[in-house]
Amino acid sequence: MKEITLEELAAFMKEQGFVYPGSEIYGGLANSFDFGPLGVELKNNVKKAWWEKFVKQSRYNVGLDSSILMNKEVWVATGHITSFNDPLIDCKKCKSRYRADKLIEDFTNGEITGDGMSNDDLVKYLYDHKVVCPNCGALDYTDIRKFNLMFKTHQGVLEDNKNEVYLRPETAQGIFVNFKNIQRTTRKKVPFGVGQVGKSFRNEITPGNFIFRVREFEQMELEFFCKPGTEIEWFQYWRKYCFDFLLSLGVKEDKLRYRDHDPEELAFYSNATTDIEFKFPWGFGELWGIASRTDYDLKAHQTHSGEALDYLDPTDNSKYIPYVVEPSVGVERVLLTVMFSAYDEEELTKADGSKDVRTVLHLHPVLAPYKVAILPLIKKNHADKALELFDLYSKYFTCVYDETANIGKRYRRQDAIGTPYAICVDDETLANNTVTVRNRDTMEQVTMSVDEVIPYIQEKLVF
Ligand code: ATP
Repeated sequence: MKEITLEELAAFMKEQGFVYPGSEIYGGLANSFDFGPLGVELKNNVKKAWWEKFVKQSRYNVGLDSSILMNKEVWVATGHITSFNDPLIDCKKCKSRYRADKLIEDFTNGEITGDGMSNDDLVKYLYDHKVVCPNCGALDYTDIRKFNLMFKTHQGVLEDNKNEVYLRPETAQGIFVNFKNIQRTTRKKVPFGVGQVGKSFRNEITPGNFIFRVREFEQMELEFFCKPGTEIEWFQYWRKYCFDFLLSLGVKEDKLRYRDHDPEELAFYSNATTDIEFKFPWGFGELWGIASRTDYDLKAHQTHSGEALDYLDPTDNSKYIPYVVEPSVGVERVLLTVMFSAYDEEELTKADGSKDVRTVLHLHPVLAPYKVAILPLIKKNHADKALELFDLYSKYFTCVYDETANIGKRYRRQDAIGTPYAICVDDETLANNTVTVRNRDTMEQVTMSVDEVIPYIQEKLVF
């Protein structure tokens, strides 16, 4: 298994059309990225897989698509306006800017995260442990300033205070403010959950590590509402469910770990929190945050909006504000994790005994940008039939057609972008209506009739 570096992966993903630097012809916009023809397919497939398991196939959950722009009072109620801050610190000598908690996290290889530490604790830790500036080696920092991460803009024609709105920094609040609407219209009984996938924006102080930390990203969030007293059981349930979901996508188990938060690290409203972390080339990083958030969010909205958000439980006629378990994950981080797990450079022995290397992405078929490549063996003889099959098969699954270069090269190209099946259209197809289907991972080929291909591939896409 080849361990690819972050720089190599970023170059590979650009070269193949997964991810391009944003606004590139204008010199770029720092830490913004565009998803190319393969990237958009992969990203959509990650979101689709999450939706399958967290919404469509769940007995408990339903979905939502709420607005990015919300009433400013939402963010007053949640405390985001006053406290969605990062601890900003500068090196006095070289003027490099850091997040104080991330300096400590990097210094301790992720063992200490700085979560839950006060600004005074953070500064004391930096000096006590001689956490020097990674750029110039000095130990001379400014005081910590609080930096609010929300992007602010104005709605309507007047740019005054009254028209201020924020780009949401998480999708969760759209779910909380719709709790009553959803419960009433679906007649769901607690326990039930609401899932949402959508863009979030954070003006990160130190974005970086390619698409790991960006300012515009997508989240897949579930807010699971349960009866007070049952939340830890549900927390354990979702904690395992998320981990198993990652394994089912082919994420390498030996690179995943749970990091349970110590009591002193917990946010004041949480009675249990775990991060699922992945071992990236720079060390373990948070992939998925799973938090038992008690009734903090609904209570805050009830108090601030004046609308009752309690629930009458028909099982025992008790009235309560449901407790919430929230598994929250970024699409880009899952995508990165999946790519690190799938990428390989395999050494092959050719028929004449010589060695060769092929690049292959062992993506799960449900994630693969293209499910099937349709390749005419000889363009002038087989292209018409191959295009006819492209038109047919692309009604059932995403296909790509390629008629350039020799067939061996075309197979390799498809291996490198993770296409799990490649169909060769040749004289047999014209004579007998059969094709050969090559498996990306085993490189074995099986012959089947043109019609058999559809159920054969569809079966592999059940998830
Ligand atoms: P971090 O400590 O890495 O800043 P966080 O604890 O602030 O993350 P949450 O607020 O719990 O993150 O967000 C839930 C998930 O959203 C994260 O686990 C991550 O997968 C994703 N996420 C958060 N911020 C970003 C970002 N700037 N870029 C990409 N994904 C992000």
